[in-house]
Amino acid sequence: MFRKVFASIAAVSAATLVVAGAASADVPTFESTATVREMVVTANPLATDAGERVLRSGGTAVDAMIAAQAVLGLVEPQSSGIGGGAFVVYHDAATGTTTTFDARETAPSAATEDRFLGLGFFTAWQSGLSVGVPGVPRLLDVLHDRYGARPWQTLFTRAKTLAQDGFALTERTSSQAAGLLALNPSCSDRVFFRDPTALAYFADPATCVAKPAGTIVTNRDYADVMKALAKDGADAVYTGPIAEEIAHAVQSDPAIPGDMTTADLAAYDVVERAPVCLDYRGHDVCGMGPPSSGGLAVGQILGILEGFDLAGAGAGDPLDDEVVHLFTQAGRLAFADRNLYVGDPDFVTVPAEGMLDEAYLASRAALISDTDMGTAGPGTPPGEFDPTAPDATAKTSGTSHISIVDRWGNALSMTTSVESSFGNGVMVHGFLLNNQLTDFSFTPVGSDGTPVANRVQPEKRPRSSMSPTIVFDSTGAVELVTGSPGGSRIIGYTAQSIVNHIDFGLDPQYSIAVPHYQNRNGSTEIEVPVPGVTLDYDAAALAAQLVACGHAVSITSLESGLSIIEIAPGALLGGADLRRDGTVGGR
Ligand code: GLU
Repeated sequence: MFRKVFASIAAVSAATLVVAGAASADVPTFESTATVREMVVTANPLATDAGERVLRSGGTAVDAMIAAQAVLGLVEPQSSGIGGGAFVVYHDAATGTTTTFDARETAPSAATEDRFLGLGFFTAWQSGLSVGVPGVPRLLDVLHDRYGARPWQTLFTRAKTLAQDGFALTERTSSQAAGLLALNPSCSDRVFFRDPTALAYFADPATCVAKPAGTIVTNRDYADVMKALAKDGADAVYTGPIAEEIAHAVQSDPAIPGDMTTADLAAYDVVERAPVCLDYRGHDVCGMGPPSSGGLAVGQILGILEGFDLAGAGAGDPLDDEVVHLFTQAGRLAFADRNLYVGDPDFVTVPAEGMLDEAYLASRAALISDTDMGTAGPGTPPGEFDPTAPDATAKTSGTSHISIVDRWGNALSMTTSVESSFGNGVMVHGFLLNNQLTDFSFTPVGSDGTPVANRVQPEKRPRSSMSPTIVFDSTGAVELVTGSPGGSRIIGYTAQSIVNHIDFGLDPQYSIAVPHYQNRNGSTEIEVPVPGVTLDYDAAALAAQLVACGHAVSITSLESGLSIIEIAPGALLGGADLRRDGTVGGR
């Protein structure tokens, strides 16, 4: 019954610099980029270039990230920026330590549990209620203080210059704006781009036609913010006129006013947290703990799969139906726990250790049979937790991932987000506000009245799926830096990238090209192949095999945005996601 689509994949060694692809000239070979010294991978060529310039000038991974993030906020504003939040997993080569930084948005102090009760997602998204206090500016400042080497003010120069001189709007930005504008009842009656400033920036305000790809746009306001950040650090955004503008924009939202105040902005803090690590086949996989569900869910998927010989089951083929079956069953089990237990650990007791307990995960793995298990129920991990009701909220689209390794061996994995495409759609001083608070549960209690761990509470951070990850080999050396956008599908994309590396020995670019599959405790999703972007395969045949095992299958677009660096012997290998605009830089 097994269809060996990629029988040759097992032969590709992780250390291979150039991947052996298909022989035909018009079939892409998905070769990883190889460098020897330093590397940066982002979802946009201009951001990658900004990071690369900084690395080349002797900057650290953190310096390069700051320059890349500053540019991303300008050229990929639909996905991340000054108005958003992020999570970073960081490995410091000098001390050999790995730590994480939580720069997730917080709910205003006036927020109440019923904030979104009765609201539809679109209504909540396009309103002032969805805006959390941004975390990115403070994160850049905190990380630079700890790990920066280049002068802070120089790291914003590239973004400022691009904002002043202009840059070409990407096809992605243009088509995403067009997609949202098309949902409006009319140009004068707008749900999306209700903010006239944002409308005029991304579209012709008279016709509501999105500016075409290639349009050269300038953003003087953004250049001002870069100057202010360069001069005064993050305080330039959290206090003073820009903070006042943010609070005013939120409070005077034309759809539904929000309640964020300048005091909320002034009080924002980045939280350093211990990484969430799990041993997978002798490799230490370290990710972001709560309030992200990413590290725990990726860890659970891998921990559950530990008992199965994936490479053997698929005879080296990552698209073998048995491999896909096992991966999707592990996904079901992980999502059942994630939905129930994960919330901001400063507000609820998350059984984080218990969720990754070896015996517990073995007991979960024992629930897997040859046929699809259907909706998985949550388990009872060892350890304390609050009684809680599930929240299966899943969103997508406004996120980006940056992976960097510098010449000293410092490694940085950062997922950065404004939540949905173009955040909440309101532009303040050249950047977009986030709508990250819609990642909270819209209902504070379950049907039996039990509180939801991920309910809204004042100053709380909404649960995320972002999964920045660093993998270490058995000697403790960094071997893989990975992560992706994609809403709650981030978890599956990231886990698959680790399985592709560890179980199938695929190098980054090839790994990214392998079509995705996953199950978030609903239907089994397998990716529609995209010519030139993913490997080609017979999705219908795989679906039929899975249906025969009881799966409900949806063949769909699975638009990851993976940025992967592998530290191979003597070289750094980079892969960027061609499903978006990813590029690899370095030397
Ligand atoms: N807001 C989502 C989260 O934190 C990410 C959204 C996306 O990937 O576009 O999980």
